[in-house]
Amino acid sequence: MTTSPTRIAIIGAGPAGFFAAEALLKRDDPVAIDMINNLPAPYGLVRDGVAPDHQAIKSVARVYAKLLARDEVRYFGNVTLGEDVTLEDLRSRYDQIVYAVGAQSDRRLGIPGEDLAGSHAAMRFVGWYNAHPHFRNETFDLDCEDVVVIGNGNVAIDVARILVLSPDRLATTDIADHALAALRKSRVRRVTLLGRRGPAQASFTNPELREFGRLDGVSATVDAAELELDDASAAEIEDNAVRKRNMNTLRGYAEAEPGDGDRVVRFRFLVSPVEVVGKDGKVCGVRVERNRLVAQEDGYQRAEGTGLVETLPCGLLIRSVGYRGAPVPGVPFDERAGIVPNDGGRVLALADGPEVVPGEYVVGWAKRGPSGVIGTNKADAAGTVALMAEDRGAGVTAGRRSSRADDLPRLLERRGVRWVDKEGWARMDACETAAGEAQGRPRVKFCRVPEMLEAAGAPR
Ligand code: NAP
Repeated sequence: MTTSPTRIAIIGAGPAGFFAAEALLKRDDPVAIDMINNLPAPYGLVRDGVAPDHQAIKSVARVYAKLLARDEVRYFGNVTLGEDVTLEDLRSRYDQIVYAVGAQSDRRLGIPGEDLAGSHAAMRFVGWYNAHPHFRNETFDLDCEDVVVIGNGNVAIDVARILVLSPDRLATTDIADHALAALRKSRVRRVTLLGRRGPAQASFTNPELREFGRLDGVSATVDAAELELDDASAAEIEDNAVRKRNMNTLRGYAEAEPGDGDRVVRFRFLVSPVEVVGKDGKVCGVRVERNRLVAQEDGYQRAEGTGLVETLPCGLLIRSVGYRGAPVPGVPFDERAGIVPNDGGRVLALADGPEVVPGEYVVGWAKRGPSGVIGTNKADAAGTVALMAEDRGAGVTAGRRSSRADDLPRLLERRGVRWVDKEGWARMDACETAAGEAQGRPRVKFCRVPEMLEAAGAPR
């Protein structure tokens, strides 16, 4: 007698979704997994977030491709929960539902001028250069010499690096063609990264920070005075190897002679933006206030304004102060934390209550917030999958098992949804890589949904 597989829908085919699929497939229990993804192409941030010049990080997609090829896994690209399928559709068809929806929005600064032309969220810039179809029509004015990037995380680093990398280097990557064309005409010469706290508190990982030291035509610089640490900061980095390495890298930048390149990345610390300044409705600078660090009871060093203000001129401002989860229709959402409320990965009905939503789970950024590198999602997903196994053993499921359990294709057909299956993605992938090969690039990405669907041969 064969046991019928547990039917599982994973919403989101990014790193968190794939690591959840991997953990599920590793267990002995038979499973049938449907991966439902709002964009036609899979791989989420590996495709649309990781910078195009970091192909080594993107190589994890090979692991995902192998998982996608498994017989137990079906793929439904270009299918949006809340638009093409409802939660009720899923609850009546699956035993378990996993939300792997990431963090689809950005945090705001909440300062005057934030929405002036020329002030953009990093998420939009990253989506634009990575050919994410939602950001295809964004425009960034690169006809200026000074750019300010607010934030001290790896996204801020990616943004700064893409702005100063030589276009010829970018032309060997899978950067979106429209972004490459714009960057070829760019007049940007100086990119200043602003940290509201000190160098000891920056969230960069060290290889990313160090990379500026070896980019052709680019100098990295920082004022040595801004690297002086107070006692609490010195103690803070003492047992943090990454931050110690970051301090050494920054000290190296402070001591280095100016290079002969014409592009500069400057790090500034202990400054908070207080107003985006505009002229004729467009960004021309940012007013920043000097901060000092104030230790909190839990040891966290908070930035506090000193009242000393200066204005940094810039023609483009990128706010890279973190991503934020966005609510999915029908799925509980914790407004404050910007995540799906959960207990170790089991979805909770309310942010502040213990009631569990049976058979529904969350992984990745939607579970813990937008932090960690791609690999962080592996252990995170394994934790959720262990709870899923426990619940399966206890007979807890998302809803009714019905005979319609595997009829998602027919439901989508009836609704006139053009979805992309595995074979469709393979066709799209082959077109992109063939176009890339002809130009000595890993791939040339489609950046509009209709052209993706055509290449995939998605049925009308
Ligand atoms: P992040 O690492 O959380 O950095 C956000 C930065 O924004 C922090 O420096 C934070 O400062 C600052 N910030 C927040 N609110 C601010 C405000 N109001 N004013 C000024 N600064 C403010 O986030 P991220 O850079 O978006 O990256 C998200 C995750 O993806 C991270 O885990 C990152 O490592 C990962 N990632 C990895 C790579 C890679 O491995 N190559 C590439 C890209 C992203 P405070 O510390 O003071 O809060």
